[in-house]
Parts: sequence; C-alpha cells; structure tokens
Amino acid sequence: MAFEGLSGRLQSIMSKLRGKGKVTEADVKEAMREIRLALLEADVNFKVVKTFIDRVKERAIGQEVLKSLTPGQQVVKVVNEELTELMGGQESKLAVASKPPTIIMMVGLQGAGKTTSSAKLARLLSKQNKKPLLVAADIYRPAAIKQLEVLGEQLGVLVFSLGDKENPVKIAQAGIEKAKKEQFDTVLIDTAGRLHVDEQMMDELRGVRKVAEPDEILLVIDAMTGQDAVNVAESFHREMELTGVILTKLDGDTRGGAALSVKAVTNCPIKFVGMGEKADALEPFHPDRMASRILG
Ligand code: GDP
Repeated sequence: MAFEGLSGRLQSIMSKLRGKGKVTEADVKEAMREIRLALLEADVNFKVVKTFIDRVKERAIGQEVLKSLTPGQQVVKVVNEELTELMGGQESKLAVASKPPTIIMMVGLQGAGKTTSSAKLARLLSKQNKKPLLVAADIYRPAAIKQLEVLGEQLGVLVFSLGDKENPVKIAQAGIEKAKKEQFDTVLIDTAGRLHVDEQMMDELRGVRKVAEPDEILLVIDAMTGQDAVNVAESFHREMELTGVILTKLDGDTRGGAALSVKAVTNCPIKFVGMGEKADALEPFHPDRMASRILG
C-alpha cells in the first residue's frame, strides 16, 4: 500500500501529541524532528521537507496553539493543513476551452502510464457526458497505437490514428480537425514519450503544442520512481509549461515522495492520480483527502 511507512510513522507521532494534556515547545520540536525524518525517509525532497517543517513549527509553537484547551489536537490540525497545502491545497480541475473542443496534450516518459491514463481520462469525461476524441500520436513505442485503439474500443471512445508513419504534428492537426468537424468537445492527444528526457522528444512536443494550442498539457509521472519523477517533472515543466500532473501507480507501495514533492518543486498541481491498471482507476486528486489518508 502506498505511504504505508510514512503514514504509520506520522500517525504514531500524531497520536502521541493528541494524547498530551499539555504540550510544550520542546514537545513540538521533538515531534517536528520525528516528522522531518519520516518525510525524508519517504523520499520527500529535502528542500520541501525543510520548508514544510519551518511552516508547521512557526504556526504550532504560536501561543494560541500551545495555550489552547486541546493543544495536541491543534498541532495535529496544523500538520494536516500544511500537508494539504503542500500537495496543492484545493482540487485543481481541468481547464475547459471557452470554444470547444478543449485540447488536452498528454506527455511523459515511456512506461509512466501515459497511454493508459489518456484512455482512463477519456472514460471519466464520457461519464460526465462529454464527447472525447482520443488521438494516437505516440508513433514510437511499439504497439502504443494499437493499445490505445483497443482501450478506446473497450470504453466506447473513438480513437483517431494515422498509423505510425505520419509525424505526430500532422496526426494532432488532423485529429483536431476531425474533432471540430464532428463536434467532439474534448481532444486527448497521446504524444510520444522516450525512455529519457531528450531534445528530440521536446522538439517534437513543442511542434505538437504549436499546432494544437492545448488548454492543458498534462505530464504523466510514475509515483513509484520517487524523486526521479519529480526531476522529470522539473525538466518537462521548464520546456513545456505544464498545466498539471497525473501521478500514476499510487496503488503500488510508493513511499510517497513524488506525491508530496511535485507540487512544491514545480508549482504544477497534481490533477489526477492513477490507482490501478483498470480503466476506472483514475481519480481527481484531492489534497485534503490525501492528507487525511496519510495522517489517518
Ligand atoms: P506509456 O508508455 O506511458 O504510455 O505507459 P502505459 O500506459 O502503457 O503504462 C505502462 C504500464 O503501467 C502498463 O502496464 C499499465 O497498465 C501500468 N499502469 C498505468 N497506470 C497505472 C496505475 O495507476 N497503477 C498501476 N498499478 N499500473 C498502472
């Protein structure tokens, strides 16, 4: 289970605090030392940890908290609020174009879950009575187009493809034209990833971005890769001005570092999380619910 280690440790630190009738400054400092270690061991970016601890300390050591009737609970509340803030505060919803179709460009490295997430997102949109078109522009990963077509068929979402001989810019352009002609309200472009961030990929993505003029550029990253995922997000954001992140494989036993660091490091909100391989395993990301889940 994701966050198991982190969650267990934070919960025991929190229950110690909650149980105290009187909480001193030293108690808070001790708890912060323990939280700091737990976050670092969960692979949270060290700068993020430092800022987080400083913020909690500043608020928790305040007189209103320590002199309140339930100081332990007040400190726990501060930790919960700051953890929520760290992950983006509020739910960050998908942009909707004022004039349809809304164009969503999906980017990411191979294996992160980009194709799967494109299909899952199309399914979510269909459930909301939208009419999405999936555009298969990942011409490099063997079988990516076929995979999208199979997923689209299962979900009842149309997949537009021109095979793997056309270039992605043309495919995107033709897909958007089709969507306009046939009144699709959302276009999801599954672009080509690579094994690593490289210049050729970024050039190609910039080309697609130029013709597609996307309302959203969503980066798909794999939570299991921890700080690597955050580094990938930083590189992509520098090159592509992302509008959001989809964090996949949160159903695995990730320690949680990526989930807790990516917003703070890139200032890009997590918009959805992947919770499994099945088509319905994509959920809008709620920072407050995630914080409460971690703190128990
Ligand atoms: P792409 O190369 O980025 O397009 O990656 P794919 O969409 O093909 O996904 C790579 C693998 O990750 C596939 O086996 C997916 O089933 C799996 N996958 C994607 N998202 C999730 C998720 O949220 N949880 C789990 N457990 N597996 C996922």
